[in-house]
Amino acid sequence: MQPSISVTFPTPVKRAAEAVRAVLRATLDLALPPLCPACREPVEGRGLCPACWSKLSFITRPYCERLGIPFVYDPGPGILSMEAIADPPAYRRARAAVRFDDISRALVHGLKYGDRLELAPMMGRWISHAGRELLAEADALVPVPLHWRRLWTRRFNQSAMLAAAISVESGVPVATAALKRVKPTAQQVGLSRSERAQNVQGAFRVPAEGKPVVAGRRLIVVDDVLTSGATVDGCARALLRAGAANVDVLIFARVADPVRTSI
Ligand SMILES: [Zn+2]
Repeated sequence: MQPSISVTFPTPVKRAAEAVRAVLRATLDLALPPLCPACREPVEGRGLCPACWSKLSFITRPYCERLGIPFVYDPGPGILSMEAIADPPAYRRARAAVRFDDISRALVHGLKYGDRLELAPMMGRWISHAGRELLAEADALVPVPLHWRRLWTRRFNQSAMLAAAISVESGVPVATAALKRVKPTAQQVGLSRSERAQNVQGAFRVPAEGKPVVAGRRLIVVDDVLTSGATVDGCARALLRAGAANVDVLIFARVADPVRTSI
């Protein structure tokens, strides 16, 4: 007959095991259900809670057909914004899904810093809807590249995540090799409009292996937030120099009033 073995741990070990179990339980509780990325309330599914969803500010017509800046009043078909006339960008048209505000900022930051990668398909769906006319005429999507050093510390490129999600929705392929960030630019936060343009000067280049996917192609540059537009304009200039037929821009959130909104 086998002797029954009862193992009794000394109290500190038992206490440690209980502590580990408590931590595991707490972790599971946090993971299920998911939290709303904006207000941290538990939600069903993976997106925003109904309250935050209702506060989200989607950009719809009337807007400037060139820059996608929303108009307060409908000035009539084909009217461009003052910005588009006074300081036209290198890109042809830009569209954004939502205005940059507290709710969209939470989504952008969740994707960028909080590793909430599960937000990308939802954000990509909204961008695809806002940019459906542009996507219908596009050959490829070009995410705004990160410098390799930043990519290394952050581990993934949020613009590439959004481009992949838009590609799933639209069927337009992603051309990841098309563009390189050759200059590790300083953060754009806190810079003036002209400083931002200066900051991205010469920052982007089409590498030799990117030339075949750029020359003669209709491209869409994809980014998460548009403030002054300097970054996507820098990308557009590099792509056009390498022979792109035209360049449009798709953004998740745009700052509608850059003077009064800070990221
Ligand atoms: Zn919420």
